[in-house]
Amino acid sequence: MVSRADLHCHSTFSDGRLTPTELVDLAYHNGVRILSLTDHDIVDGLPEAFEAAERYADFTLIPGIEMSTDVPGNEVHILGHFIDWHNPAFLDRLSHLQESRLNRARLMVEKLQQLNKPVSWERVQFFAGEGAVGRPHIALALMEARHVSSVNEAFDLYLSRNGPAYVPRDRLGPEEVISLLVDVGGMATLAHPRELLAAGGLENLLESLRAAGLTGIEVYYQDYLPEEIDTFRDLASRYGLIPLGGSDYHGLGGPQQREPGDIPLPIEPVQKLLALAEERGALDRARIAHSR
Ligand code: AMP
Ligand code: ZN
Ligand code: FE
Ligand code: FE
Repeated sequence: MVSRADLHCHSTFSDGRLTPTELVDLAYHNGVRILSLTDHDIVDGLPEAFEAAERYADFTLIPGIEMSTDVPGNEVHILGHFIDWHNPAFLDRLSHLQESRLNRARLMVEKLQQLNKPVSWERVQFFAGEGAVGRPHIALALMEARHVSSVNEAFDLYLSRNGPAYVPRDRLGPEEVISLLVDVGGMATLAHPRELLAAGGLENLLESLRAAGLTGIEVYYQDYLPEEIDTFRDLASRYGLIPLGGSDYHGLGGPQQREPGDIPLPIEPVQKLLALAEERGALDRARIAHSR
């Protein structure tokens, strides 16, 4: 089933394989008519995405971002939709995050050297291109150097949170990031909650995140099973959160990958998000389809 909406995708401006233009084109050809580009801790791909969206009369593009945060023992990713991505204080925060991503990636490359799995910093930078550097770029360098045969293997052996080459990013708490997003007029959504549910304490976290201004939770995501979708939809309804979703398309392959739009996200929650954006005066930050 292909949904008309996909609220979570990456481009070359973070760790996606497609440029924003290629992503917009692929999503459109898959039947997606409402898309959000949500690169990791960066908004620099948005101008190109908006330009690409202009070529389709019946296409809505929502400015977005996915911000990485940490809680003890786990990573929490928060999506921000309809953010005022020109806000200077916000951009300043993001450029500090870029810098800390760079330092952290260098430390990971040093650790790999010590593990006798050397990759060159130049190749990591090459894979990162103009955008935010992340672990998937190091994974690609590990593959190229034939230390691993896939991105997933690179994570399993070295780069996952408990892996020997892992270095944490600068720690931001999810509540702090939600405030940051709400301050720039964004709607904040908890991304891919499966691991958080498995770790326990998701309900306490939701309580705290909602108090900080969270308005959505990702319910329809990649390979989430119907039973999991039911569980998260139930949580959404109990905590008054909009049950949103996205493919988290990166274009890097792997068994969990879904194409843009290849998620069972119904249109009603997406319309709720648009209504909330309208209520908060944020709708004009999106490029709205001329014919909807
Ligand atoms: P970073 O922001 O540098 O910490 O990298 C996070 C990104 O790495 C996520 O957005 C995923 O795309 C990717 N990632 C995390 N864990 C895995 C994994 N086990 N296998 C493949 N990709 C992963
Ligand atoms: Zn990513
Ligand atoms: Fe994520
Ligand atoms: Fe993502």
